[in-house]
Amino acid sequence: MTHPRDWIEVRPQGVWCRPGDFFIDPMQPVERAVVTHGHADHARAGHQHVFATPETLAIMRSRYGDNHFSEAEHPLAYGQIVDLNGVRLSLHPAGHILGSAQARLEYEGGTIVFSGDYKRRADPTCVPFEPVPCDVFVTEATFALPVFRHPPLGDEIARLLASLRQFPDRCHLVGAYALGKCQRVICALRAAGYVETLYLHGAMQRLCDLYQSLGVDLGALAPVTAENARTLAGRIVLCPPSALKDRWSRRLPEVLTAAASGWMRIRARAKQKGVELPLVISDHADWDELIETLRDVGAPEVWVTHGRDDALVHQATQMGLKARALHLIGYEDDAE
Ligand SMILES: [Zn+2]
Ligand SMILES: [Zn+2]
Repeated sequence: MTHPRDWIEVRPQGVWCRPGDFFIDPMQPVERAVVTHGHADHARAGHQHVFATPETLAIMRSRYGDNHFSEAEHPLAYGQIVDLNGVRLSLHPAGHILGSAQARLEYEGGTIVFSGDYKRRADPTCVPFEPVPCDVFVTEATFALPVFRHPPLGDEIARLLASLRQFPDRCHLVGAYALGKCQRVICALRAAGYVETLYLHGAMQRLCDLYQSLGVDLGALAPVTAENARTLAGRIVLCPPSALKDRWSRRLPEVLTAAASGWMRIRARAKQKGVELPLVISDHADWDELIETLRDVGAPEVWVTHGRDDALVHQATQMGLKARALHLIGYEDDAE
């Protein structure tokens, strides 16, 4: 077999497959891009050809417009194989957000899987992660430290609902990433039996509509308007993390600030952001999930893209795997 190290290169635009002449999640516009999912640090506008799941393409159209590409979109269903100059490319569920995929590349008998962003926890808004056997498994390491252990989602949602009962006069403003996290929190609230209308910052509306149109039921949603803002005491409002402290939120009555993020595990970070109710909710694998995934995938070699790469490389080595850090820059999962 031809080992992937002989045909995969890190270039300034991102990771490049030489024989197939395409990039995975490139940072800059390129001729051929494979896009793992719709988050802005992975999906950029301006490529000539885009290979992605139909859901990811729909998200890119919603965010960047129908002309986010200059030549063609190439929708790939999970498991469908396309041949690009002798490289067999297929996408497989990553369990991160709607449409998120791992990219499997096979060339001259060697296989490599780029997992993009992923998690192993249940998420009704997307298809669960599927371990794909390969020679080299490429993983991120955003939360690759033993301190990062995400609690069960139901526990965090229960804390939010308990706070709502305890402070019925306060508007509960929840900061959540507009793509993926917001819709997952909404689904979790519904699963916990919360049937009231949920109110949305303008930045969330379009993506929630898109999720609903793609079959994810989010229940009753309404925009926050100049007219209704004052009446939202005792209600839950979702906004992007950046809007938690801006002028927009001052219209809401007696705001109680919450935030749904894996980073909320770090108390100092929550405090620094002025978050009263930190909810540890992440769409990334935590330390245990990363280790579990290395075991489940069973690849003899692991490449780590970004994050706490030293810790994960060390861990993989301890598990008897070959491991190295790629030191990719530009993939920052800060808002996550
Ligand atoms: Zn992501
Ligand atoms: Zn990312």
